[in-house]
Amino acid sequence: MTTSDTNAQQGGAAAPAVQAEGVEKYFGSLRVLKGIDMTVMPGTVTVILGPSGSGKSTFLRLINQLETLSGGSITINGELMGYRPVTRHGRRMLQTLNEKEIARQRAKLGMVFQRFNLFPHKTALENVMEAPVHVAGEPKDQARGEAVAELERVGLGDRLDYYPAQLSGGQQQRVAIARALAMKPKIMLFDEPTSALDPELVGEVLGVMRSLADEGMTMIVVTHEIGFAREVADQIVFMDGGVVVERGDSGIVDDPKEPRFRDFLNHVL
Ligand code: ADP
Ligand code: MG
Repeated sequence: MTTSDTNAQQGGAAAPAVQAEGVEKYFGSLRVLKGIDMTVMPGTVTVILGPSGSGKSTFLRLINQLETLSGGSITINGELMGYRPVTRHGRRMLQTLNEKEIARQRAKLGMVFQRFNLFPHKTALENVMEAPVHVAGEPKDQARGEAVAELERVGLGDRLDYYPAQLSGGQQQRVAIARALAMKPKIMLFDEPTSALDPELVGEVLGVMRSLADEGMTMIVVTHEIGFAREVADQIVFMDGGVVVERGDSGIVDDPKEPRFRDFLNHVL
């Protein structure tokens, strides 16, 4: 049994889905994240805003363990990511998890990137079935049934046998969302999912994300879509220069306090 199971069974107030404490990231001598704290409650949507280079993608990649932490900690449903607390000679220490354990932790998270990265030689259905069959080892028939359901969920039930090149950018991104959902993640991470799309295709992707939020999915979304943030976010976090400059409920986009946040909003709106 994991710590998170124990916590959940002991009841009381809901435990955070994601808890980041003092997260630090260096690339060589470049300090990209300077002590990020963030708490994401289950079933809520957190939108991260911030100018290019502020460390947003790095933070999401740390949550998903595509990068390793330089300092601080991240827990998902109470479970420490990347490390195991151990007691040696009466001292509490951290032990690095192995690849297999990290893969198990990563499976709780679904990630959607700016670039959809679909397999070009596979149909929409085959793209969504790929990980359940080849990573999770699901029987093909079961994976196919679930993939159809996920594609219907993103409004592509009539495009199962289309190849990526036969789909619009918005449709491809919706396939990418279905592909992430097919692994039954507890939390979805989105890194500028609409930034590479033609403006007329942005709405259909945001619509799918909104319906996911309505279904109660826990989501962390990096985006410049302020309208989406205002309407869907339970929490908005504005980052700049590797620190959180301002945070609050969705109202902060209409009443920013910090000059840097105000400037940012003036530029994106
Ligand atoms: P954002 O997503 O907010 O635009 P990033 O997290 O992509 O910001 O980048 C933050 C900073 O970290 C930038 O200065 C970027 O150049 C740097 N950076 C990101 N990834 C790497 C890497 N793999 N190696 C070196 N520097 C990196
Ligand atoms: Mg980025």
